[in-house]
Amino acid sequence: MSENTTVERTARESALLESVPNQLFIAGKWVDSTSGRAIHVQDPATGAVIKTIADAAVEDGAAALDAAVAAQDSWAATAPRVRGEILRRAFDLLQERKNDFALLMTLEMGKPLAEALGEVAYGGEFLRWFSEEAVRISGRYGSNPEGTGTMVVTQRPVGPCFLITPWNFPLAMATRKIAPALAAGCTVVVKPAALTPLTTLFFVRLLEDAGLPAGVVNVITTSTSGAVSDPIIADPRLRKLSFTGSTPVGQALIRQSAEGVLRTSMELGGNAPFVVFEDADLDKAVDGAIIAKFRNIGQACTAANRFIVHESIAEEFARRVTERVNVFPIGRGTEDGVVIGPLINDKAVAKADELVQDALGRGATLLTGGNAIAGEGSFYQPTVISGVRPGSDILREEIFGPVLAITPFTDEDDAVRIANDTEYGLVSYVFTQDLARGHRMIDRLQTGMMGLNVGVVSNAAAPFGGVKQSGLGREGGLEGIQEYLSTKYTLIPNS
Ligand code: NAP
Repeated sequence: MSENTTVERTARESALLESVPNQLFIAGKWVDSTSGRAIHVQDPATGAVIKTIADAAVEDGAAALDAAVAAQDSWAATAPRVRGEILRRAFDLLQERKNDFALLMTLEMGKPLAEALGEVAYGGEFLRWFSEEAVRISGRYGSNPEGTGTMVVTQRPVGPCFLITPWNFPLAMATRKIAPALAAGCTVVVKPAALTPLTTLFFVRLLEDAGLPAGVVNVITTSTSGAVSDPIIADPRLRKLSFTGSTPVGQALIRQSAEGVLRTSMELGGNAPFVVFEDADLDKAVDGAIIAKFRNIGQACTAANRFIVHESIAEEFARRVTERVNVFPIGRGTEDGVVIGPLINDKAVAKADELVQDALGRGATLLTGGNAIAGEGSFYQPTVISGVRPGSDILREEIFGPVLAITPFTDEDDAVRIANDTEYGLVSYVFTQDLARGHRMIDRLQTGMMGLNVGVVSNAAAPFGGVKQSGLGREGGLEGIQEYLSTKYTLIPNS
């Protein structure tokens, strides 16, 4: 960690934090929580409380859903062009305010400023993409096979939605849900993670400025997510739940959603394999590895979790990535050039360390790092371990930290077996210069997404999502808006 990380806020940071709303947003108004409680949001780089905001009670969640239900019909009846233009204005405003959004994310979540700016760009693209998709909601019209009538297929908004987002991408996970919901004509209640609620509150202020009508987006921030969410999910007026977060919470929410037979979208955990074949361009593979592993300090569902490298090049690959990792600047995300910021909290540091120690205990070799960093903030050394043995916890669990773990393989079948040996199936990365092998891997790897000779795949124009226990549904692309539409078929007899 760089030397001076003491809690000294710049005037700009203080002014920005001051300008972030600290109340709930319900029916177009900023309101206090009925609980009288507060959430103290901390900077993970220092542990300092940076803002105190409203902590919603069950009643506030109910009021937010009431507001979404009340606004549903008029929003669905709002011209698609108008809905799209509000999203487009939001996109433009986000570009104007990008530096504020980036700084705010760095302060509440810890990621380096350059990465936070990258998230603003990525998160903003969902606003632009779905502003364009709002006017492309189409149907079908044609004769039935018997020739006795006309079949009309239209798409209607699903109805009021509940959107639950995680802490690791505070802006992009919100826009990835809010934008398609609004484009489709759905109203929403949004619940960000209690660890990083400020970005969502700041974003909703931006939506107000973009001209969003009251009640279309409502935000509740709460420290009691289960208690506040349960009655919303149980309410028969809710029609859809979209969740991004861990697989165990997602599974519980799917069970709860069964009662009302809710439409659900689930973006859950990952355990991405990063497979490097002996014929790979090693320079590209190392560049890809660095971004796939250390983006967001390893705290991404798409983070490469298991580096599965052909035995003939495993040592060379390990040497090269270690060289790169050894010179990573570590520190507060607001400091120039920092690559490794803090993890979200001390629990995350302890979890990363447990996985590393378990792997080392089972025979892996430590090449660099391997320890928490003492002092203020929740920092863990960027770490490389090689020769990870089967049965190690690190091969089964999401690391969610800056730890690169290498396992050797012998041949293509062995690589596929190891890569698919997980209940997760979000994304995989494959490095090979053999085109035919690349194509085979697209078919053989059980993941919803794949990067072929590239370490990052996310794009607002592409369908993001997983198979197996990584989730249900897709966000982004042509598919993203479908998650918020129901198909309606009407038969009109000819006589
Ligand atoms: P988490 O603990 O599952 O929390 C996710 C969200 O759910 C938070 O807003 C959380 O609120 C809320 N929540 C927790 N328990 C709840 C309950 N009983 N009822 C309603 N809401 C509840 O996950 P996380 O630690 O924030 O995020 C990390 C996980 O997200 C990782 O597993 C990562 O892989 C996954 N993720 C997946 C994707 C994807 O697209 N597939 C993208 C990003 C992250 P509180 O925290 O305030 O309780």
